[in-house]
Amino acid sequence: MNLINRNYGKKLISLVAIALVTLLLLATPVLADAGFLQWSYGGATNPTQWGKLSNDFTMCELGKDQSPINIKNAIEDSPAKISFDYKPSPLSIVNNGHTIQVNYAQGSTVSINGKQYSLLQFHFHTPSEHEIKDRAAAMELHLVHRNDAGQLAVVGVLLNEGKSNPLIAEIWKQIPDIGETNMVSDRLINAANLLPSNKAYYSYSGSLTTPPCSEGVSWNIFVEPITVSEEQIETFTKIYQVDARPLQPINNRVVQLHH
Ligand SMILES: [Zn+2]
Repeated sequence: MNLINRNYGKKLISLVAIALVTLLLLATPVLADAGFLQWSYGGATNPTQWGKLSNDFTMCELGKDQSPINIKNAIEDSPAKISFDYKPSPLSIVNNGHTIQVNYAQGSTVSINGKQYSLLQFHFHTPSEHEIKDRAAAMELHLVHRNDAGQLAVVGVLLNEGKSNPLIAEIWKQIPDIGETNMVSDRLINAANLLPSNKAYYSYSGSLTTPPCSEGVSWNIFVEPITVSEEQIETFTKIYQVDARPLQPINNRVVQLHH
């Protein structure tokens, strides 16, 4: 190798090094911005890392009342004090990169132990996040409610493989691409069609199952599952193979059974 070629080689290495440093400098501020940080169910930002991804997510790691849990040894409590006043809503489907979510129109409520909460949205997980007596279901539906004081109440329904669900069929037909919302305003749906007929339920105090994992969430999980077809499960898992947080320790909490 003569001198000219060697110099040319050095120059090339310098150029590549400069390019790499520039890329790193450009990328660093973006990665350091908590607002931009993404969480996920697999890879480097999987659930075991959520608490480290942002100062806003520390409860995911430090919280003692986290969800989901394995529901067992429930204590029999007062009869069911849950009643639904769900009204029809235009169908608005969001594919948000973590799940398929249906945003609900104002005016639908649930009353739990005398407290009234408004239905905001419902969404799906696969497999189920909660287990009942060590058993997971194929999927889990979360109906997310909030009251005037800002407290959250989630009603959970486990979905087993069986007969197809007509409302879920309707929703699955209209799923937009990731990051998109599909507003089907001429189509009214009613979330009451996603509730089991038997209203016995478990209750406990937990958290959001996604970052920021905030606690003080009233969890209410129906004992009776509903069913979805194998094909309906497949439609979802083709988009989201797994979107369930692993089980969290129950610690000092008590699960109550109302029926
Ligand atoms: Zn959920």
